[in-house]
Amino acid sequence: MRKVLTIGEILVEIVATTKGDGFLQAQPLVGPFPSGAPAIFIDQLGKLGTPCAIVSRVGGDDFGRLNIERLAADGVDVSGIETAPGETTGSAFVRYRADGSRAFVYNIRHSACGNLLPTAASEALIESCGHMHVMGTALSAPGLGGMVMDAARRIKARGGTISFDPNLRPEILDAPGLREALEEVLGMTDLFLPSGEELFLFERTDDEDRAIRALLERGIRTIVVKRGGQGASLFQDGLREDAHPIAVDEVDPTGAGDCFGGAFLSFWLAGAEPGQALRYANAAGARAVTRLGPMEGSSTREELDELLAERERTGS
Ligand code: ATP
Ligand code: MG
Repeated sequence: MRKVLTIGEILVEIVATTKGDGFLQAQPLVGPFPSGAPAIFIDQLGKLGTPCAIVSRVGGDDFGRLNIERLAADGVDVSGIETAPGETTGSAFVRYRADGSRAFVYNIRHSACGNLLPTAASEALIESCGHMHVMGTALSAPGLGGMVMDAARRIKARGGTISFDPNLRPEILDAPGLREALEEVLGMTDLFLPSGEELFLFERTDDEDRAIRALLERGIRTIVVKRGGQGASLFQDGLREDAHPIAVDEVDPTGAGDCFGGAFLSFWLAGAEPGQALRYANAAGARAVTRLGPMEGSSTREELDELLAERERTGS
């Protein structure tokens, strides 16, 4: 099977255990949890046994080791993660507000992964991988964005495939050059994984069917729309499949989209029926929200089979 590459941030997440607005008083926290959208995505692929690797950079500290050890244990090739002595691994402090929105304190841009540059190890991975997963957020960072574009172009030019999760909010679309980069990635995309409004980033319409048709006409093979607690839908030429959400107790929604995407890609690359890939991805997203910590809810095949079997039994 094609080996999957992603490039982007690795960080730890530290979560407030009470709901409220921000970090202006001392409060109980839990963590560090391994995190970073590309890291969660690739961890889910590794857990499902798909050959995969991440290019990233961490500091010579426990936060970096925690991430490398977790990813390696879950089957991810970590040879492209550079450890920078004297630098600090990225971090995010997160507190949920009562309405479900989140307050963050980030240390990412000035952390080790903010200084990502090509290395001999990253070059070797770009040469050996046959699929690249692009996170749109990476494209807004100058150095990282250039590396991601270069890797995507090279892998695509060799006959490889590209998946793309915009993972963006419309407000940050004005970053210089971002629009152009997103358009170029979309032009290379085989599997597109938008959530909600991201479907309308590229087409001047607010009609879902029309947006889907226009995107398929650009040459995208598969589009999967993530709808949070409403489930997900898959579109491919002439085919539509809908996955109803699996009823679960939502503990922590962070990372659901990445676990969903990683699981979908694992089945898609293995040539599974689109409906089967969607079912497993829907289960992976549902399972992800039941665990505190963004990467804690990534799933093995057995765990997904168990959840799907339980759903069959109870009809939930
Ligand atoms: P994020 O970027 O915040 O991780 P996302 O928008 O990329 O999120 P979501 O749509 O939130 O991704 O979640 C991905 C998928 O996980 C959904 O399409 C659905 O299949 C599943 N999922 C998410 N939340 C729930 C939930 N509360 N109950 C059941 N399934 C869920
Ligand atoms: Mg997302």
